[in-house]
Amino acid sequence: MKALQIQEHGPPETLRVVDIPDPVPGAGEVLVRVKACALNHLDTWVRRGVPGHRFPLPLVPGSDVAGVIESGEAPGFRPGDEVVVAPFTTCGRCGPCLRGNEVACREYRILGESRDGGCAEFVAVPQVSLFRKPPSLSFPEAASVLLAPLTAYHMVVTRAAVRPGEHVLVTAAAGGVGTAAVQIARSLGARVVGIVGSESKREAVLALGASEVVVCPPGGDPVQAVQAALGKTAFEVVVDSVGGPFFEAGIRLLRPFGRLVTCGATASGTATLDLRRLFFRSLSVLGSTMGSRHEVFEVLRMVESGTFRPVVHAVLPLEDAAEAHRMLEDRRVVGKVVLVP
Ligand SMILES: [Zn+2]
Repeated sequence: MKALQIQEHGPPETLRVVDIPDPVPGAGEVLVRVKACALNHLDTWVRRGVPGHRFPLPLVPGSDVAGVIESGEAPGFRPGDEVVVAPFTTCGRCGPCLRGNEVACREYRILGESRDGGCAEFVAVPQVSLFRKPPSLSFPEAASVLLAPLTAYHMVVTRAAVRPGEHVLVTAAAGGVGTAAVQIARSLGARVVGIVGSESKREAVLALGASEVVVCPPGGDPVQAVQAALGKTAFEVVVDSVGGPFFEAGIRLLRPFGRLVTCGATASGTATLDLRRLFFRSLSVLGSTMGSRHEVFEVLRMVESGTFRPVVHAVLPLEDAAEAHRMLEDRRVVGKVVLVP
């Protein structure tokens, strides 16, 4: 089959479309013909490499698969059925798995990060990873309601437990996690402010239900940007996927008893935290990563009820993967970039 493969870490040009044998499904797995695979910032980390972490190269990247069952048996599904695939696998037997808290499973593996993913014509996945594709969505749209919305759901609902009427600030609000976090917080009855990096992204984020959008260009001070736009303001919840200065700004913009939930560090993995602010103001800092299958189910339910809609920025052929990665890295996108084999 035709597949994108990371053979060595490096710049986008190192991504190659190669011919490799079709994957052979293991016990309890099915073969899915990939119709669309959405990209995440994770894909760019896997491509670049992360100091101190070993990826199993060569590796087919891509976590977010929408496609059609090609072969194999799964209860409730038949070959030809249109499906989306949970972007991770777990052992299915341990305490956390049985409690539905799969993110704590020791064998939690992300597709396209620690096992071959979906940037290929076929991918083999466990039958328990299959969900029906929402019929109202195209394949690129369906691939866009997986890893990032799952991450956002886990942050907003499970970790921060956003309540109606709360003021929520979302950083990188035009990104994959951001566009989902804005919609999910909004659906809970929160009042949402989004931060974006350029004026061109403002309208798109307002259209998702944000009540205000603050533009903070790269290198700008997010606190100043927020206060210049909204006056002296503070939030019950900050949803941050950027890290570095945005994490620090988020802490400064919290009300007493506020919570900051973090899932990413696309700007920087280090930040300074003033402990006096943390304890005097009774703040909470919550880590969050990915989510569990019941949360994939909840996101798909929100799609079907119309409270959540995917935002697709571009659909490109597999051969244009390098350009797709550059679009993500240059933060030129609103929503998801999707590859089709
Ligand atoms: Zn487990």
